[in-house]
Amino acid sequence: MAEADARKIALGLKPIQRKALVCLTCSRSLLSRQGLHEHIRVEHQGFRYCCKVKGCGKEFKGRSELRDHTKQKHKTKDLEI
Ligand SMILES: [Zn+2]
Ligand SMILES: [Zn+2]
Repeated sequence: MAEADARKIALGLKPIQRKALVCLTCSRSLLSRQGLHEHIRVEHQGFRYCCKVKGCGKEFKGRSELRDHTKQKHKTKDLEI
């Protein structure tokens, strides 16, 4: 237990040490820097994750939605995104 805690701290995952990440445009707070970048791109810049399978080209707001789609529709494990 103590070891796991130490590892969390090392990774910067301890809540009190984590800086609040807030979108300057809509004041929404995000859990990670990557999440904030993704939020800004998707919500404010209209970015979409596109399915790269030929003839499909479906668009998704989230990386995980695209991943689910490729898994379910194309039976592919993980396409390079
Ligand atoms: Zn925002
Ligand atoms: Zn597709």
